[in-house]
Amino acid sequence: MPTKPALSIVIPLCNEEATLTPLFEQITSTVETNSLGDFEVIFVDDGSTDKSWEQIEQLKLAYPEQIIALRFRRNHGKAAALSVGIDKAQGDIIITMDADLQDEPAEIPHFLEKLEEGYDCVSGWKQLRQDPLGKTLPSRFFNAATRATSGVKIHDFNCGFKAYRAEAIHSIELYGELHRYIPVLLAAEGFTTTEIPVEHHRRTHGVSKYGWKRLFKGALDLITVVVLTRYLKRPGHFFGGFGMLSGILGFLILASLTVEKIIFGHGIGHRPLLQFGILLVILGVQLILLA
Ligand code: UDP
Ligand code: MG
Repeated sequence: MPTKPALSIVIPLCNEEATLTPLFEQITSTVETNSLGDFEVIFVDDGSTDKSWEQIEQLKLAYPEQIIALRFRRNHGKAAALSVGIDKAQGDIIITMDADLQDEPAEIPHFLEKLEEGYDCVSGWKQLRQDPLGKTLPSRFFNAATRATSGVKIHDFNCGFKAYRAEAIHSIELYGELHRYIPVLLAAEGFTTTEIPVEHHRRTHGVSKYGWKRLFKGALDLITVVVLTRYLKRPGHFFGGFGMLSGILGFLILASLTVEKIIFGHGIGHRPLLQFGILLVILGVQLILLA
């Protein structure tokens, strides 16, 4: 039986054939130079249509002990790819990084040092981000909005380069675009995150998969995250409050219709408002009973 590695490095990728081999070589050399012990690299191919999967299979043949190769036949998004990679990871420490070599594998030891200070997550901060303004501006907006709504005081939520204690990252679920908000999800579970500045290189191969379209999905997910982290712990609170509002509104509608009927003698039997009021009261009672 192979022994359990201390360190797992999870790499989600989609159409990154040019960088996979140099990335793996740089990781290996960093681990060896810094005597980081046993490690595994988990490549998760998120539906690539180029030769990425062939590259991974070749690497796996050459380094069967170090590589775990996972593949989606079609693209499911970075969060889903991270999620299956993290599920497979056996290390006590799990590092995630992008496959495009915009991150610097030689910086892995800085993350580990910071984890040793007692944090559950160390997140990279691309202080000098080497991406076009069309990406960096919306990202600034996102980071400010996420900081303000979550209370987690870091600058760069979405940086793909992060390190975690296994217990922390195994405690959350990732889907949609939720990978952008991992520190927020961790904070809701009581885990701590800190940030370290990282180098960021210009993309030299392949293309970015994120554009304006993803921005809207990301905004929707910020709302999901706020609801999840604020109310998931107390769903009763959320649904009970909602039920109460609905019940009160329904009651007021029915009361005013009753007054109309009794005092002014108006017919109310065919008024849509009557059905609406009854519906609101039923909804309210159901939600309050569920809460
Ligand atoms: N990625 C992925 N699935 C996707 C989109 C991206 O696995 O649907 C990977 C991509 O190959 C890269 C990482 O996620 O390894 C970050 O993506 P990208 O470099 O396109 O994002 P950017 O750095 O431009 O924000
Ligand atoms: Mg990138």
